[in-house]
Amino acid sequence: MTELQKKTHKHETKIVATLGPSSDSPEKIAELMQAGTNVFRLNFSHGTAEGHIQTAQIIRECAKVQQRYVAILADLQGPKIRIADLPDGAVNLTVGDAIAIEVNKDFISTDNTVIGCDFITLPQQVKIDDILLLDDGFIQLKVDTIEGTRVHCSILVGGKLKSKKGINKRGGGLSAPSLTSKDLNDIKSAAKAGVDFMAVSFVSCAEDIHQARKHANDAGFNPAIIAKIERAELANDLDLLDDVIRASDGVMVARGDLAVEIGDAALVGMQKHIIIRARELERFVITATQMMESMINQPSPTRAEVMDVANAVLDGTDAVMLSAETAAGSYPVEAVCAVANICNGTETQNFIPRRRIVDIQLNTVEEAIATYAIATANNLPGVKCLVALTESGNTPLLMSRYNTSIPIYAFSKNLSTLQRTAMYRWVHPVATGSDHLSNDPDEAIQILKQKGLVHKGDKIVITSGDIANKTGGTNNMRIAVVS
Ligand code: PGA
Ligand code: MN
Repeated sequence: MTELQKKTHKHETKIVATLGPSSDSPEKIAELMQAGTNVFRLNFSHGTAEGHIQTAQIIRECAKVQQRYVAILADLQGPKIRIADLPDGAVNLTVGDAIAIEVNKDFISTDNTVIGCDFITLPQQVKIDDILLLDDGFIQLKVDTIEGTRVHCSILVGGKLKSKKGINKRGGGLSAPSLTSKDLNDIKSAAKAGVDFMAVSFVSCAEDIHQARKHANDAGFNPAIIAKIERAELANDLDLLDDVIRASDGVMVARGDLAVEIGDAALVGMQKHIIIRARELERFVITATQMMESMINQPSPTRAEVMDVANAVLDGTDAVMLSAETAAGSYPVEAVCAVANICNGTETQNFIPRRRIVDIQLNTVEEAIATYAIATANNLPGVKCLVALTESGNTPLLMSRYNTSIPIYAFSKNLSTLQRTAMYRWVHPVATGSDHLSNDPDEAIQILKQKGLVHKGDKIVITSGDIANKTGGTNNMRIAVVS
């Protein structure tokens, strides 16, 4: 291990780094991995399918060299509604002026009085006095009248508007089907790239997730599906939100679009609600967008950004995500190091609330074992770590739904399981030495000893199934003392 790795790999909260022009070379990927990136995000809103497939190969090769288990996340663009091209790439908008949005496909904008948009049902989906937010809310328009294919607005907040920027409606409700034809093609490319996670944008119901899973299965792969929570419809209907969380393997607090739709004031409570509910429903959760925004142009974060990352850690997020900071910024590696450092510093504080375990409802044998393994590790003096001998990675996921300060080692022979568990907070993937056993506790103890992670006299809480290679079969808990 290099000095950098020793310094930065202590964080238990995981780091998702988006790749892009600043970071998709083999050299930069290696540096980001060394700095502590656990999951690499391929953003299908940008780049080409071939490019993403090639980048995935580079990540896998690099992980082999560094002997790390890292995951790859393909993020589908979804039905992001965008304005068309503008004359010379941008127009200036002045507060109080009138502006119209024209949805006729053949329309070409020539000045700043009418701009194009290819979302043809826009005039039917807005009403007078609605607020339209362009470019993540930097530009705001109020709808005055609607006339055929044209929506007439007045400018509430002006500035420079560039081509192809997104449009959202305050309060949500601009609905386009969640999976576009581009997404369906990108799912096939994600299958070729062999990604571990697939994120679905602008999810509006559980069915969107079922469809995404079905298309992935049809393309011959079975990624964990992430629902990006970024629509006001979900934030305003917590039962619907629960349905979406249950349909998914994990969720993302997609604060960029979510904040635009529900407003900044509601975002704080929503982030906390989504994180709490995801954990209660036994799903993992990523907190995303603008976490280290100033590091796009500067080598160190603002105090406010430090506190934002720390707050997500205290909320109990599994992972924090970097977007433009690592994809297009000048300091991608510094950004990952800064996040790793803040996570580590926050995790060692005693402010993280623990879920009480006594008297809780248990649904499966596996859940019973995972729950009481954590209760034991947290409360019995001398326990150094938890070990889950696992086929699918579900037991370590269940364990990590409870707060702990004790590392959970997910031992598996399945590469895809090891990669997937890289997302879960407190979970560290470890390959079993042999390729036949996933239920041999003694082998696990030997490996931990060799790695110097446990020493004579340490207690280890180990879970396993009676039958090796069986998914969902965890039914044993043992407390071993290292001899
Ligand atoms: P995006 O998703 O970056 O793909 O828009 C995240 C967000 O909306 O916050
Ligand atoms: Mn988004």
